[in-house]
Amino acid sequence: MKFKIVSKGDHRSNKIKSTIKEYLTGFDLIYDKKEPDLVISVGGDGTFLEAFHRYVHRLDTTAFIGVHTGHLGFYADWLPHEVEKLIIEIAKTPFQIVEYPLLEVIIRPDSGGKADRFLALNEAMIKTAEGSVVFDVEINGEHFETFRGDGLCVSTPSGSTGYNKALSGAILHPSIDAVQLTEMASINNRVFRTIGSPLILPKHHTCVLRPMVDRSFLIGIDHFTETYTNVKSIQCRVAKERIRFARFRPFPFWNRVRDSFVAEDDI
Ligand code: NAP
Ligand code: MN
Repeated sequence: MKFKIVSKGDHRSNKIKSTIKEYLTGFDLIYDKKEPDLVISVGGDGTFLEAFHRYVHRLDTTAFIGVHTGHLGFYADWLPHEVEKLIIEIAKTPFQIVEYPLLEVIIRPDSGGKADRFLALNEAMIKTAEGSVVFDVEINGEHFETFRGDGLCVSTPSGSTGYNKALSGAILHPSIDAVQLTEMASINNRVFRTIGSPLILPKHHTCVLRPMVDRSFLIGIDHFTETYTNVKSIQCRVAKERIRFARFRPFPFWNRVRDSFVAEDDI
C-alpha cells in the first residue's frame, strides 16, 4: 500500500509525521506523494481540508484519515498518543471505508467563457466586499426567491458543523445525501423577502444563484476564498463523487458532534 502524510507544519505535527513515516515504511508500506492509497492528515480540520483538496482528483482510489493535533479536529479520529496503535492498524488491517457526500459547485462566467468546477468537503460560501449581494435563487430550474443580504452558504452534511452551524443551519448526518442552503443576514422587509429558514436539498436537486447586480464576489470553497467578477451563475448540488474515510474503529458521527460541541472528553 502507498501512503502520504500531510502535516500542519508545526513542530509537533512534523514529529508525528516522521514517526508514522518511519514506522510504516519499516512495515514495507511505500511513501508515495503522487498516487497514495491512503492520505494521513496530521493537524486540525484546516489540514484535513488541505489534504482533501490536494488529492481531490483521486477520490475514487484514495482514502483519508486524520490525526488530531489542531484545535477542534472534527475530521480527525486519532489523537497523538494513539499514533502507535494507528500505525499497527494501518500496517496489518485492510481498512473499512466510510463514504460521505460532497458538494459540487460550478461557477459560470458572464462572458460565456470556461466554467470553474469545484468539490467542497465543508461548504461553498458567497459574499461580497461591496455592500450586500442580490441573487435570484433558482431551485430545479424554477425561481424560488430573490435574496438580498450578506451572503449564502451551501454546505455538505459533514460541513454542517462548520460555517453552516454558525449560521443556525441544522446538523445533518452524513448518511443523508443532501446539501444545505443557509442565509447570512438576509434583508427582510416590505420590499425584499426570503424564506429565512435553511433549505435542505436532496440528491439530484440543483440550486442556482444568479447575481442581479454586477459585483465582485468572494467565493469560498472550504478553507480558501477567491474573488470573482462577471459571474453569471453559481450552481450547487450533491456531487457524484464522495470522500472515502479509512476507518479502523467505529466513531459514530453523533459522538463526534457531542465530543466537539457539547461535552468535554471524559477520558
Ligand atoms: P479555521 O478558521 O481554523 O476554522 C474555523 C473552525 O472551524 C476551526 O476550529 C476548525 O477546526 C473548525 N472546522 C472546520 N471544519 C469543520 C467541520 N466540518 N465541523 C466542525 N468544525 C469545523 O479555518 P480552517 O481550519 O481552514 O477551516 C475552514 C472551515 O472553517 C470552513 O470550511 C468553515 O466551515 C469554517 N468556518 C467557520 C466559520 C464560523 O463558524 N463562523 C467562519 C469561517 C470558516 P480546526 O481548529 O481543527 O481547524
Ligand atoms: Mn483551522
